[in-house]
Amino acid sequence: MAITAKAKELRAAGEDVIGFGAGEPDFDTPQHIKDAAAQALADGFTKYTPASGTPELRQAAAEKFAADNGLEYDPAQIIVSCGGKHSCYNVMMAVCQPGDEVIIPAPFWLSYPEMAKLAGATPVILETTDETEFKLTPDQLREAITDKTRVVILNSPSNPTGSVYTPDETKAIGDVCVEKGVLIMSDEIYEKLLYGGAEFKSVASFSAEHQAHTIIVHGLAKAYSMTGWRIGFTAAPLPIAKAIGAIQSHSTSNPTSFAQSGAVQALRGPQDHIGEWLAHFSKRRDYAYGRLNAMDGISCVNALGAFYLFPNISGSGMKSGEFCERLLAEQKVAAVPGVAFGSDDYMRISYATSMENIEKGLDRLEAFIKGL
Ligand SMILES: *Cc1c(COP(=O)(O)O)cnc(C)c1O
Repeated sequence: MAITAKAKELRAAGEDVIGFGAGEPDFDTPQHIKDAAAQALADGFTKYTPASGTPELRQAAAEKFAADNGLEYDPAQIIVSCGGKHSCYNVMMAVCQPGDEVIIPAPFWLSYPEMAKLAGATPVILETTDETEFKLTPDQLREAITDKTRVVILNSPSNPTGSVYTPDETKAIGDVCVEKGVLIMSDEIYEKLLYGGAEFKSVASFSAEHQAHTIIVHGLAKAYSMTGWRIGFTAAPLPIAKAIGAIQSHSTSNPTSFAQSGAVQALRGPQDHIGEWLAHFSKRRDYAYGRLNAMDGISCVNALGAFYLFPNISGSGMKSGEFCERLLAEQKVAAVPGVAFGSDDYMRISYATSMENIEKGLDRLEAFIKGL
């Protein structure tokens, strides 16, 4: 967000800045979803709803888990929050106590460690690199678990790397957590954004025990381009769901009433737009992946999900902060330094922008590299 702000500032000053910083799709929210929210407003659906979300949306979310993941949840186990980020925060607050440890593989979505700290817990960062496609190994996880470990955060497909655990890898991570009696917070917000035949399987779906150890975080921001609507939800074992609901009830109360009506339509209405968006994302990903790997001093593993690439820039001799600052100053290209995600040898390139921008931005990146 800081990079985006700096890029905005430069743009306002008349500079032609190419933004690779976007953390949201460049497509509009599908019309049928907007119509449902507009209709709800017109119908006067403008008052408080139950603090944990409308019964209709909790039911629609439960149906989503049944249809997409083969997971059975009672709507009472679903809590709707003000965005997936709020869902993550509520989870940390519900399950962590001071002294607890939260295992977070790096590169991580930058809010996770801060949320753990806000809950009084200690983030334990486990480093991964492009050599394992940024995936935690079961041995690495087993070694890091102590008697203080409360929860492990899993985010596949990943922001910022785009990496996706295979079903076998997901199960292996889940097996360790079940064996050790540790919870998993599985952030599945990019579930539907997959490329190159990648398969997603929720860690909760391998057995009843896996489900009992998992809190799924989901939301509509990414696959429905509803980032500003602020609707996310969790699916959790009932006692944890109740705790999340209680925390929310005493902090924010319900998510926006008519946004929830739009969310029901998103989950239950036509899903055709996702295929169309994926075709665009996939073309851009292929192009950017090819270009990046052709540049001296840059190497990039391919991403199988989300809309990010996470190239290794260590061949430039710079750390990510300096690299991205200079790239913005000298070539007017905004990308997020990997240090923000706990990995200082990389930068995040979002391809949630037009092909024209991607071509132009990568031309400039190439010129920047050649000039070093
Ligand atoms: C975008 C995102 C979310 C949720 O975003 P909201 O806008 O709060 O719904 C959650 N996790 C990750 C990893 C994300 O990138």
